[in-house]
Amino acid sequence: MASVVLVINAGSSSLKYELLEAESGTTYATGLIEKIGESTSHGRHTSDDTTAEREGSCPDHATAFEWLVEAFHDNGPDLDDVALTAVGHRVVHGGAHFTAPSLITDEVISEIERLIPLAPLHNPGNLEGIRVALAKFPETPQVAVFDTAFHQTLPPAAYTYAIPKAWRVDHRIRRYGFHGTSHAYVSRRTAQLCGLPLDEANVIVLHLGNGASATAVAGGRSVDTSMGLSPLEGLVMGTRPGDLDPSLPAHLARAGLALEDYDRALNKDSGLKGLVGTNDFRELTDLVAAGDEEAVLALGVVAHRLKKYIGAYAAVLGRVDALAFTAGVGEHSPVLRAAALTGLERLGIELDGDANAAATSGEHLISTADSPIAVWVVPTNEELEIARQAAALIAAGAVR
Ligand code: AMP
Repeated sequence: MASVVLVINAGSSSLKYELLEAESGTTYATGLIEKIGESTSHGRHTSDDTTAEREGSCPDHATAFEWLVEAFHDNGPDLDDVALTAVGHRVVHGGAHFTAPSLITDEVISEIERLIPLAPLHNPGNLEGIRVALAKFPETPQVAVFDTAFHQTLPPAAYTYAIPKAWRVDHRIRRYGFHGTSHAYVSRRTAQLCGLPLDEANVIVLHLGNGASATAVAGGRSVDTSMGLSPLEGLVMGTRPGDLDPSLPAHLARAGLALEDYDRALNKDSGLKGLVGTNDFRELTDLVAAGDEEAVLALGVVAHRLKKYIGAYAAVLGRVDALAFTAGVGEHSPVLRAAALTGLERLGIELDGDANAAATSGEHLISTADSPIAVWVVPTNEELEIARQAAALIAAGAVR
């Protein structure tokens, strides 16, 4: 029997959703409610190729969920007519506790709450989404799928920071990694595209969107990943810097910068935005084409960091079968892919320039036929992965 899952991705001021069938991947409807809590909120619901928009006051997540239910009722498919197998919730931080998707119970909610100090920007919104969905669909199984869970296979040598033991123990400081749902989906799909069994495929996944992370996947298991305690570490991102010298906070504090300003600058005003004033990679690409010097430098910084991680993860894996580019920039930017992969022929990575230039949407092989390492562009599908994981848990007998 087909499993129909409502996937919810609730942020602090937004609620994104998709209704889909887990087995076939058929999408029935998608939607987004933005600017929750602001004076004017926006809703958008797409089903049957038709998009309905809504504007008005949506003060909280409970109201946003009413908007969601009304959008389904008005534009289809009516949720009252759908036999929902589960509601699948994206939860950003599952700490070291959650290594797999979990049926939501009071204990699971308490644990997600306990993890708020590790993800103060994300887990509270995720929890709001869970609470309002539970209130509306108390009889439907609800499943939490964690961004961190895929990385719980990291070996201790990869997840341990070389810092005082008290910090590691008392504050649970370690590498957790994020975007796990995307890395899980893309690594599995890449193994399929390469014709390799998942447990034999070594893949480096480059998830390059507004947030960006690289993961080394050995036989379907994450063995290293670039994001760490928080989603700030690693690659250069839209507004986040990625790797920095750890002395920076103390240095700037001594110069008078408040901790909150430091935090905000690293989350909102760094990365591409800090380098060139925009976090939109399309704008950066246009500026580079126009010869803008700051933009050329920014592209160089982003590509250099990416190249370093590819080399590092080739060393971690020992043997690499494939590289996979995904997410907004990874799927759509031949310019960045070419900049990051130039000069890696001795590592076994031979880009096909024409195939790369032509690959701006969909799944594509962009390496030469002889390249020892295959390079793929693979659109990510986190909603489908959440739906599949939620449906699999229910099929395995999980009940509330
Ligand atoms: P995501 O977070 O996965 O939605 O990705 C957002 C990023 O993808 C933004 O920086 C966009 O500018 C970038 N992006 C989307 N479409 C394109 C495109 N056609 N070319 C280059 N970058 C793109």
